[in-house]
Amino acid sequence: ALVLALESSCDDSAAALVSSSRQILAQAVVNQNDAHRPFGGIVPEIAARAHVEILPGLVRQVLHEADVSIGEVDAIAATAGPGLIGGVMVGLLVGKGLALSAGKPLIAVNHLEGHALSPRLVDVGLDFPYLLLLASGGHCQLLEVRGVGDYRRLATTIDDAAGEAFDKAAKLLGLGFPGGPAIEALARDGDSAAVPLPRPLVGSKEPHFSFAGLKAAVQRAVIAGSHRPEDVAASFQQAVVDCFLDRTAKALEQSDASTLVVAGGVAANASVRTALADLAQRHGRGFSVPPGWLCTDNAAMIGWAGAERLAAGLTDGFDAPARARWPLDPEGEKVRGAGV
Ligand code: ATP
Ligand code: FE
Repeated sequence: ALVLALESSCDDSAAALVSSSRQILAQAVVNQNDAHRPFGGIVPEIAARAHVEILPGLVRQVLHEADVSIGEVDAIAATAGPGLIGGVMVGLLVGKGLALSAGKPLIAVNHLEGHALSPRLVDVGLDFPYLLLLASGGHCQLLEVRGVGDYRRLATTIDDAAGEAFDKAAKLLGLGFPGGPAIEALARDGDSAAVPLPRPLVGSKEPHFSFAGLKAAVQRAVIAGSHRPEDVAASFQQAVVDCFLDRTAKALEQSDASTLVVAGGVAANASVRTALADLAQRHGRGFSVPPGWLCTDNAAMIGWAGAERLAAGLTDGFDAPARARWPLDPEGEKVRGAGV
């Protein structure tokens, strides 16, 4: 089957054509960085308006590049949350319009399910269940992925997300947005043992995460001014990696899934990838991580999640809501506001 996918949950507008045989026929992303830069952060209203202007052109572009007509597409997948609600509404409505006019089924995709299933788009041998470290701009969770739409959450962050920590540390160091790639680049010339930083929650019984204290410690180190920025970046990155290692090891005790997977924007980080691959090996588990471009936001992962849902017979009605908040697991649904 062939799925046309839209992603608009944050500041990237993206479209892709993905097949259920794991082919990406075409994909396009337009980053809105320039539109937001004057304001020093993402402005939700500006993001929503930019998606209105950019998305229709991207749809035309991917169809043209793949030489496919809308009639040849089997379903339309659009991110329906979680994210900035204005942008989510724009992408979902474009998707509904396309589905309605072309007479195709609509698939309202959870952006987190896009990240969670993304490794299966490129790793043919990756079967359910697997233990997933989902580390992105808005989330840091350990989930057992049991099947399409079937998630058991083992842990989440009690304050900041991992990517958010990278972004805040980068801002403190005067680097640009997004902070992750900037910190990673600067850290290459730094000494990861130079600045003593905390590893919040390491050693605690449940595999939860916390990064607020780490950010505060980075702030103190920057204000003190006694360390090279390179060393602060490297030490910060190492602290995050150490938290990931300890917390994921704890989760591995609670799951007998044969493979460890890491996905989400922070999984693009080379130190994170190597450290977790090594952890999996030490625990006798398989390991899988998508290529960097598939870790950060893109529409191919939404198309793939759509293809997986379509194969499972899971399509949505035209009343499918746009959701600012949308946990993957049933426990998260029950506890409102609990660090999803
Ligand atoms: P969510 O998926 O939780 O809704 P999001 O879509 O905004 O949030 P992603 O696009 O999945 O987040 O990931 C972006 C985050 O990943 C940013 O916080 C960014 O700093 C971080 N990131 C990207 N590349 C790297 C990297 N090389 N090292 C560390 N962090 C990175
Ligand atoms: Fe994301």
